[in-house]
Amino acid sequence: MQRVYFDHAATTPVHPEVIAAMLPYFHNSFGNPSSIHSFGRESRQAVDSARERVAKVLGASPREIYFTSGGTEADNIAIQGVALAKKGQGRHIITSQIEHHAVLDACKYLETQGFAVTYLPVDEYGRVRVEDVVAALRPDTILITIMHANNEVGTIQPIREISAIAREHKVTFHTDAVQTVGSIPVNVDDLGVDLLTLSAHKFYGPKGIGVLYIRKGTKLKPLYHGGGQERKFRPGTENHVGIIGLAKALEIAAADMTSKQAEVAALRDKLMAGLLEIPEVKPNGHPTERLPGNVNISIRYVEGESLILSLDMQGVAVSSGSACTSGSLDPSHVLLAMGLSHGEAHGSLRLTLGRDTTPAEVDYVLSILPPIVLRLRQMSPLFHKR
Ligand code: PLP
Repeated sequence: MQRVYFDHAATTPVHPEVIAAMLPYFHNSFGNPSSIHSFGRESRQAVDSARERVAKVLGASPREIYFTSGGTEADNIAIQGVALAKKGQGRHIITSQIEHHAVLDACKYLETQGFAVTYLPVDEYGRVRVEDVVAALRPDTILITIMHANNEVGTIQPIREISAIAREHKVTFHTDAVQTVGSIPVNVDDLGVDLLTLSAHKFYGPKGIGVLYIRKGTKLKPLYHGGGQERKFRPGTENHVGIIGLAKALEIAAADMTSKQAEVAALRDKLMAGLLEIPEVKPNGHPTERLPGNVNISIRYVEGESLILSLDMQGVAVSSGSACTSGSLDPSHVLLAMGLSHGEAHGSLRLTLGRDTTPAEVDYVLSILPPIVLRLRQMSPLFHKR
């Protein structure tokens, strides 16, 4: 059976060149980067070089790059770190209702610690309104954290406008760029961010390694205590193999981003157009301000879970909602925030394309999905009652 992967927003395969770059560091140059002998020095050099290369791609200085265990940890170090550092100044944080749980749950935790959080609504396309950010500002606001693009519907947020407001009001600004880095251009000065999160496994790097960019001068307190690694913000022996893989993957993504982005977007548009030919299917997310690889639709009278399982039986991997929440039966908080009904949210499907997705794979999905939808609808009491 043909196996087709349409779940690149959940994770990506590791690029062969990334594997090749990492391999020697498992067994040859395996030293602890903190050791002063030659084994250690080799690892330290590799980590330093990776930091420089990551900084270059992001338009940052190497001293502003902090390696973490991934997106979730970077989000937590950023959000809780600012809260700890600035709690004497104020205890109000602004975020949005459609953030990833790494951000939402860090904010919810801070609410239990005496912080107040405003969860901004979004419009029907999943975009935060800049005027809502302005209206939510208070004299005690210390942090705004708004994701660069949403992991479920792919909508890209007006980060430049929001960061300008944050700067004007001397509020620290963090963005979770886990879904954008490697997919669209990300430059920290262009975006105007103080803190930015990324994660290697979303751009053909290994899992369990990420970066928190911390602009020089940003007030932050460390959450962990131990060794002096990552300038005390992420103590613990560096995952040097992962760090080397992350840097290589980022360079590969940056090298052919413009051409790849256009190719992937063209296939996405073809897939979306084909899916919209199925009766009573509607697109979710912004029509133009969206990630090149994201297709999200609601299919009336069917459950997303049943669609995933039926497609999986024919070799096609897709998701509904985010990978992290798809184990639960709750409808997606993102789709509900965008104003979709519970039925529409339950009938949602996310297909995310990657750099190796082919036109033939798109055609395959478009050939098998309509009969699956028809069969599931025939079993649906709601479809017969409509
Ligand atoms: N933020 C966003 C927007 C994500 O999509 C994800 C992963 O799905 C994360 C954070 C968490 O990243 P990680 O899996 O590296 O912890």
